[in-house]
Amino acid sequence: MKVLSLLATFSLLLYGAYAQNITITSPDKNVVVNLHTDSLGFLFYNISLSGVTYLEDSPLGLSAKHGDFRSGLKITDSSISSVKDEFEMTRIKANKVIYEANVASISIKNAESIPMNIEFSVGNNDIAFRYLFPKSGETGSTRIFSESSGFRFPYKTTSFMCPQSDAMIGWKRTKPSYEEEYTPDGKLNRKSEFNHGFTFPCLFHLPDGGWALISETGVDSRFCASHLSNNINGTFFVEYPMATENNGNGTPEPAFALPGKTPWRTITIGKDLKPIVEGTITWALAEPQYETAHKYEYGKGTWSWILWQDNSINYEDQIKYIDLSSEMGFKYVLIDNWWDTNIGHDKIEKLVEYARTKNIDVFLWYASSGYWNDIVQGPINMMDRPIIRKQQMRWMQKIGVKGIKVDFFAGDKQETMRLYEDILSDADDHGLMVIFHGCTLPRGWERMYPNYVGSEAVLASENMIFSQDFCDKEGFTTTLHPFIRNAVGSMEYGGCFLNRHMSRDNKSGNTRRTSDVFQLSTCILFQNVIQNFAIAPNNLKEASPISIDFLKEIPTEWDETRFIEGYPGKYVVLARRYNNKWYLAATNGEKIDRTITIDVTSIFSDYTPTLICEDKDDNVVCSTPKLKKGKLTVTIRGEHAIILK
Ligand code: CA
Repeated sequence: MKVLSLLATFSLLLYGAYAQNITITSPDKNVVVNLHTDSLGFLFYNISLSGVTYLEDSPLGLSAKHGDFRSGLKITDSSISSVKDEFEMTRIKANKVIYEANVASISIKNAESIPMNIEFSVGNNDIAFRYLFPKSGETGSTRIFSESSGFRFPYKTTSFMCPQSDAMIGWKRTKPSYEEEYTPDGKLNRKSEFNHGFTFPCLFHLPDGGWALISETGVDSRFCASHLSNNINGTFFVEYPMATENNGNGTPEPAFALPGKTPWRTITIGKDLKPIVEGTITWALAEPQYETAHKYEYGKGTWSWILWQDNSINYEDQIKYIDLSSEMGFKYVLIDNWWDTNIGHDKIEKLVEYARTKNIDVFLWYASSGYWNDIVQGPINMMDRPIIRKQQMRWMQKIGVKGIKVDFFAGDKQETMRLYEDILSDADDHGLMVIFHGCTLPRGWERMYPNYVGSEAVLASENMIFSQDFCDKEGFTTTLHPFIRNAVGSMEYGGCFLNRHMSRDNKSGNTRRTSDVFQLSTCILFQNVIQNFAIAPNNLKEASPISIDFLKEIPTEWDETRFIEGYPGKYVVLARRYNNKWYLAATNGEKIDRTITIDVTSIFSDYTPTLICEDKDDNVVCSTPKLKKGKLTVTIRGEHAIILK
């Protein structure tokens, strides 16, 4: 991070019970953050954008083992610097992150004169804050009991949030795993279904039409992952994990050595959703944790488990999927749970060898467990202990496996964050990329860990197999993610089904309601640098050649993301660019028609795009769009989509 200049310093009187005030503005001056104490030394901040209040007076502070920093606080010093940083990224929605902000560094003392600093980073659309603790006397470490950082939105703001689950419920007692349902435009005071608040990121729609997305970033082994509390008298607080997570093992209270700090809590605001869909604050504020000696390659893959399920984890079916990946020109095949008993380590070596003759590389599934749930799918009890984990990783490196998918974690405590980091760090030593499932939200991990690929942390494609209800709601859920979950982190969704019925025979099972082009559009809407698609061998003969060609061609790495229009849960028009080629998806998640007009020339300035859509009989068709003054007006049927490329 480059500090360009020190904008201002404030000298404040050290003592006295009176209100203190600091104002920080964004580089473009449109965002104003005001920080102030009251007469009892409680600390508050508020945020406005172009004169409109986005957050009303919201509390700051926390309670730590080495001191109480909730009241009796005095601001002793502060300075504001102008910061500009620019760096290249892989594995996210853009290949370059530009971070420009005015950062206030505020020195505080509590009633016992123990020091704490708060940093407030104020960009043109992103506000972030964190607490920093210097070493205080002989005290070399601390533990944080609770945090009173809060977010107080104006009256009549609505929310798009999913609840934090109870601990130790669900499949083999593996929750919470960020796989709950969103309520769109929910009342601000609605209680979480489980009474444990809401998982990050949380989206808010302000009464004046503006939007705000709250999340956190830079969470590593030195802190827990947090979430938002229920609305308590109008304020959402940062809340730490529940004691019951991890089968009750480990503390919910994060601890670290001094000097030390909390993660950044981020608030992205905008008059429309553009800064949220295109924003990169998550990575701007995360810090790389280690360099890699390996060159990781990204691309597309297939996985038999998603459609053919557990029965397909055998040698013969895996050959079929390796052949499918090869036929599609993909890079990877993912061999899912039970391979240890149904295929075995020796025959996995043969599969990896066979795959290599077809130019395909292999990802292998592991359970994270462990002593915290009831998972029986193997391999179990290998990723939680470094001695066995490294044995497995040495074996995988030796036979040429390129990555692992680790599933079924245990919640958000610091000890689980430590496990994620340990797995990532050991995997990188062995040239392995890592995908997490049944897991927490990634919090800046693409920048922090060079071999990190993506996390599930969403009700993903598997739910199409499990429930007709999810198939019925697929339009709604698909059009949420670009605005919320996928806006802050790579999303391992595993989608794009071309079977109409959710089964191997394509006759039985749940029925997909959305169209084929809708499915293809998710390859643009959902960002994850390795995409394991839910296609099956029968699609090669049964699906439209246009769909197959599109899947062969679609990139998984993006240089730029551009939001055009949309509303969470209803529809989204979004374009992504790789090199000089753009892909635009206009996806209708509702069950009724929507007519939209897209200014095509704003994206396709150099060439006329091709339109992929469905005719009235749902045949996938390709054509040159009929433009009027550079604009395309099109009616998209319910649960359908169009693609321009
Ligand atoms: Ca899952």
